[in-house]
Amino acid sequence: MHEPPRVILPWIDEPPSELDITDQEYRYLARVLRIRPGEEVVVLNGKGGIWRGRVEAITGSSVRVVELSRIREQRESPFRIVLLQGVLKGERMDFLIQKTTELGVYELYPVVTEYCQVRHTRRLEHWRSVAREATRQCRRSIVPIIHEVMGLQEAMKETAHIGLRFIFHESADPGGLRSEGPRDGCCILVGPEGGFSPEELKIASEQGFRLVGLGPRVLRAETAGVVATALLQYLYGDLNPGLPRP
Ligand code: SAH
Repeated sequence: MHEPPRVILPWIDEPPSELDITDQEYRYLARVLRIRPGEEVVVLNGKGGIWRGRVEAITGSSVRVVELSRIREQRESPFRIVLLQGVLKGERMDFLIQKTTELGVYELYPVVTEYCQVRHTRRLEHWRSVAREATRQCRRSIVPIIHEVMGLQEAMKETAHIGLRFIFHESADPGGLRSEGPRDGCCILVGPEGGFSPEELKIASEQGFRLVGLGPRVLRAETAGVVATALLQYLYGDLNPGLPRP
């Protein structure tokens, strides 16, 4: 089935029934997709609001969309995964953001750890655009929040309200992922390329992070983040056909 193109306009809360789409989204619709009057467009704000409308006219700088009306789609997992990820080099971070967005991650904290090779970044806006692009492609309605880069302890503090917490380590046992704890979400901690220091493992365990493994092979950090997310969606989220849908 032909799906209408999607544009993300973060500043709209409840759009009027008509809207002029300009700038970057205009270029995407008019120049890249060569949209025509009469065709449908889906507009989202990245916070869960989705509206469908029809293109009425296209000028040199805007696409006019009319008859906007709210639609309901259920592609967001009821299980909210917050990922604390040691900052990775270059495209590995992009890969991680794209794949975990597709898998429904709710928030991402890029964290600087002891063995991180990257300690500061100018790529935050780029990472956010990777998340927006992946949201559009996988047809989610919520763009994952990507926080400013911060130290590990600070990120742990900011996520202290989340009861279920896991830290992934290559020598731990995978069994620990099964939990009898709260089931509305969890916080997961994955190391950078160099892994965690013994001190970090100690602090994490003091902060209530459960040490868990992803099998006998050492995965690359970006693989580990993706696999962890998929397993958690399977166990507690919307990747498990056996669990009741909300
Ligand atoms: N320093 C290690 C590898 C680190 S891998 C070494 O070179 O030997 C990077 C991160 O991916 C780790 O910190 C961990 O969070 C995660 N990871 C990789 N393989 C894993 C596995 N088998 N189980 C759990 N976590 C794993």
